[in-house]
Amino acid sequence: MPMLLRPLVNMHPVVQQLLALQQVDARVATMRSKVDSIPRETARRQKKVDDLSRQRDAVETVIEQADGQYQELETKVSGLDAAIKRQQDHRDVSNNASSFTAAQHQIEYLTQDKEALQNEQLELMERIEQETPKLAECDQLVAVETAEFEAYKAESQVLEDELRGKFDEVVGERGRHLDDLPEQSLAMYEELFESTDGTAVVAVDGSHCTGCYTRLTPNDMAFLLGGSTLITCKSCGRILYLAG
Ligand SMILES: [Zn+2]
Repeated sequence: MPMLLRPLVNMHPVVQQLLALQQVDARVATMRSKVDSIPRETARRQKKVDDLSRQRDAVETVIEQADGQYQELETKVSGLDAAIKRQQDHRDVSNNASSFTAAQHQIEYLTQDKEALQNEQLELMERIEQETPKLAECDQLVAVETAEFEAYKAESQVLEDELRGKFDEVVGERGRHLDDLPEQSLAMYEELFESTDGTAVVAVDGSHCTGCYTRLTPNDMAFLLGGSTLITCKSCGRILYLAG
């Protein structure tokens, strides 16, 4: 004997249709969340690439600023060198002790200034040397992450198209389940499906609603067994059927 899909007890025909619709709707919901997960994942990966690129640019900015400051100091050092040279020329042609001493002092001051600037330059050079390997590391990370992202985008596009195709199929299937369904029953079902997280139609187990575990009245049990009246749970409002 072939397996019967029909339940063994009488089930109200509308409830039977709604139960089948609920099964399709569960698949619609699963497919929708799969389809939606792709743009979310794409955005997550895009953000990762963007964050890494920003970190890389920040390191580059530190290096560029240090380099700019170094160049400015270099110009100042050259200026001091020229000034020292002028004072040395004064000193070398001086014809009295006081002008010799004055030039000598100037040379010492200028040399101190020059040394201070050169120390600053050394610090900047150290900073550049510290940051340069970091920049290379960041470049590497950005390149790896970008390549992975590009590969993911190509793959996910195929997957997304495939999922959208399946989703459309299930939605089409859903449409066929709506034929002959009374409008009022469908509206009640849809509102319940939304508010009960996909459990609008539930079985009765040992005279209990399996949606909220409230016991049914003997009267409702009798109606359910009769199968000619659509019975809803008095407590949670779910549409009920006997599992058989
Ligand atoms: Zn209930």
